Amino acid sequence: MSIQDLIRPTVKALKPYSSARDEYQGNSDAMVFLDANENPFENGVNRYPDPQQRTVKSLLSKIKSIPQKNILLGNGSDEVLDLIYRAFCEPNQDNIITLPPTYGMYSVLANINAVAIKRVQLDENFQPKVDAILEEADSNSKLLFLCSPNNPTANSFKAKSIERLVREFKGIVVIDEAYIDFSNEESWASRLNEFPNLIVTQTLSKAYGMAGIRLGICYASEEIISVINRIKPPYNVNELTQQKAIAQLEQNELTQQQVASILSERDILVEELDAISFVSKIYPTDANFVLAKVDDATKRYNELIEKGIVIRNRTTQPGCENCLRFTVGTKEENEVLIKALKALE
Ligand SMILES: *Cc1c(COP(=O)(O)O)cnc(C)c1O
Repeated sequence: MSIQDLIRPTVKALKPYSSARDEYQGNSDAMVFLDANENPFENGVNRYPDPQQRTVKSLLSKIKSIPQKNILLGNGSDEVLDLIYRAFCEPNQDNIITLPPTYGMYSVLANINAVAIKRVQLDENFQPKVDAILEEADSNSKLLFLCSPNNPTANSFKAKSIERLVREFKGIVVIDEAYIDFSNEESWASRLNEFPNLIVTQTLSKAYGMAGIRLGICYASEEIISVINRIKPPYNVNELTQQKAIAQLEQNELTQQQVASILSERDILVEELDAISFVSKIYPTDANFVLAKVDDATKRYNELIEKGIVIRNRTTQPGCENCLRFTVGTKEENEVLIKALKALE
């Protein structure tokens, strides 16, 4: 398979915008910058940010053991996913494959980009039906989205199934690893060298505790990274976001401690939920949330709202009838939730 054949012709032909910071990349010490029409009076953000976010990438590169040249950053993973659509999917011609129940953005972005959606529902254990997916694919199927650990089901997909899909799908396979930092599975980003058609996305929004700054991460081959670089807005990650991300990534032990605490609280939460009379099933979780089946999801959702607790009602998702999704909070928050649920028994 040639990645070049998967890229949209318009993107291949594009001459990218060249920003002032792209054109001069030398040492910034002791230089006088009169190239970008900025206001010269220092206030911390009067200069344009680094369009290649080199300091953030170098920290990520160390933490994740992925070379910097295989990393691209975006304004949240939502921007990264949108850029992937725009690089590979020709509007009103190509299609993508998504595996419901899963993250809603894949189909929203398909609709925005006028790209058709093929859906192959996960099996009863929320695992991908590999043969059915490969059969569903046609020559216009450019992207296959695998969300692992999957939102809202919380489980990881079997490595064997993922590997077969990456090997046999004749387009780009995007593995959304938004929850990988909570998982026991290894990131697929460590195997980019084996699979030229693989894109792995991650985010600082979940385990890293930085949903507010909007920083999404894309790991892929240099070839794919350079395609997406051509179409990304030049200054897509702002200066404040870069500064905050750097500060957070420099204290990575704190994130690891918080993840460990969330995971141990998750186990307690699962036990407590299991003891609630109207909870009939708790699905295995490899993430920082729990999917549970109850007697009447909409009724229980509304009752919790009345008690000031907001969870996610997933009952309308395929295969998730009467399912509620609980994010793991602090010890105190989880106790408030369990107390409220007990009062509803
Ligand atoms: C939360 C989440 C994201 C994160 O998106 P950002 O735009 O980076 O905040 C991505 N994928 C899935 C499946 C998620 O649940």
